[in-house]
Parts: sequence; structure tokens; C-alpha cells
Amino acid sequence: MAAVKACSVLITGANRGLGLEMVKQLSEVNCPKRQIFACCRDPDGPKSEKLRELAEKHPSIITIVCLDVADPCSIKESAKKVSSLLGKNGLNLLVNNAGVLAHGTLQSTTDQEMRDAFNTNLMGPFTVTKEFLPYLRTAAKASDTSGMSCDKAAVINISSQGGSMSTMPALYLQFPLFPYCVSKAGLNMLTLLAAQELKADEILCMALHPGWVKTDMGGENAPLTPRDSVAGLLHVVSKLTEKEHGGFMDHTGKTMPW
Ligand code: NDP
Repeated sequence: MAAVKACSVLITGANRGLGLEMVKQLSEVNCPKRQIFACCRDPDGPKSEKLRELAEKHPSIITIVCLDVADPCSIKESAKKVSSLLGKNGLNLLVNNAGVLAHGTLQSTTDQEMRDAFNTNLMGPFTVTKEFLPYLRTAAKASDTSGMSCDKAAVINISSQGGSMSTMPALYLQFPLFPYCVSKAGLNMLTLLAAQELKADEILCMALHPGWVKTDMGGENAPLTPRDSVAGLLHVVSKLTEKEHGGFMDHTGKTMPW
């Protein structure tokens, strides 16, 4: 299986679920000079225990960074810390993975629930991407390869089929996740427009759907394990080029309908 060779990788929501599994699989690949910035909002709390254990196992590879994607001050602080540790080659791969599930319908969802979903699932990736853009640009410029790849400079937004305007309406009454779906649809549009804007910088942008996965969010009935979903996602990530730039794919590499 192809491997992600990006030297520096930043992952949000890295203390559990898919983010933690991504850190695990990336730290197991033999890649010299790899730096993984595993970001989470409560590095010392009980929900980050597994990440702390993993970081202790790979101290030269994993750095835990405090980052609440719903808090612009926290994002700024995290960028300061990461930039002080990054080499002159910048940040190769940013994975906007942190997300919250939010149930409800147009009629039952409160203003606050809608704002909370937007703050994490949409404003989070928006502000994080803007804050880390200078380091992604540095990585793109420092690379001696032409074209686009996730080993060079890329933003991967972990989206969801729930954000698909063409397939979600038929599933909505069975799965009333109004705030989640609207925020992920926004994330999909963010990806499309960022792809247009960042093409000139040769920074690859993609939205990826991990499949329905057994995590705290996906629940016990989900058919996929985090291990298989992340192995698939990382395989897809390792193969992305300018041909896929601005696209939406699942963990098997299948193109998803917007
Ligand atoms: P989990 O609920 O298992 O984990 C969510 C992660 O996001 C946790 O690390 C959580 O941290 C973090 N997070 C939530 N809010 C914030 C915040 N404000 N700042 C920083 N981190 C935050 O979810 P999954 O691992 O399953 O989901 C990962 C991504 O995959 C999400 O974007 C989700 O929408 C997407 N996805 C998942 C699917 C599934 O079936 N599991 C299906 C489709 C998409 P904390 O411990 O602090 O809460």
C-alpha cells in the first residue's frame, strides 16, 4: 500500500476516533524527519490519554498541541507553537478532522445548536486553514517537485456524505442531522472555493468522506473500523495529484457526489 511521505503533518481532533487513528498509522510508517502535530483541545484531560501514550511511544515524531478549533485565540496560539517547531520547509499536510455530530431538524434545532455545529465543523476549518496557510505556502515553495501532492502542500477536509447536496435530502428524514449536514455542506463549498484560490500556490485541497465508522460519533452499528477507514483515507491521500484537486472522495477513492 502507498504511504503518505509528507514530512510535517498537522491533524485536528487527534485525541480520539479517526484523528487518533491517523496519528497512529502515520507514526508507524518509516518516514525520516516526520513531524506530526497532534492537536486536541484538552491535552492533559482524560479523553487524551491514548494520544499521550502514543506520543510517549514516538517522542521524536509526535508533538501534542493544544487546539480548540472553535476558539480563534486557541488557533492563533497553536500556530505560534507549531511555527516555532516547524523547520524552514513549512507544513506539508493539514488535516481538518475535528468535528461534532448534531441531531435535529429545521424546526427542533435551536440557534445555539446551529452556531455550535458551524463553529466546529465550518468556522474551525476556515480559521485553522487561514492561520496555517503561510506555512503551507512555505512548504509548496520549498518543494523541488512540480504539480500538487499531499507530500508537498495540502489541506484535507474530513467532510461527510451528510454534506452532500445531491444524496442527503433522500436520507434526511431517516437521519435528521440538520445542523451537521448544513455545516458539512458549507465545508464542501469551502473546499471547492479554497481549491480555486490556492491553485496558484500549488496547495492541494480536497474533501474526504471516511465512510460510516465505529467511533464515538459513528456508533457501534457502523460497518467500518477506524483502522480500515484511516488506512483507506491515507492510501487515497498518498495518491492525490492536481487531477483530483478540488474534489470530494470517500475512503476507497470513489468520487462522491457534491
Ligand atoms: P469522534 O466524535 O470520535 O471524534 C471527534 C474529534 O473531534 C474528537 O477528537 C474531539 O475532541 C474533536 N473535536 C470536537 N470539537 C472540537 C473542537 N472544538 N476543537 C478541537 N477538537 C474538537 O468523531 P470521528 O473521529 O468519527 O470523526 C472525525 C471526523 O470524521 C469528523 O469531522 C466527522 O464529521 C467525520 N465523519 C465521521 C463519520 C463516522 O462515521 N465516524 C462519518 C462521516 C464523517 P474532544 O475529545 O475534545 O471532544
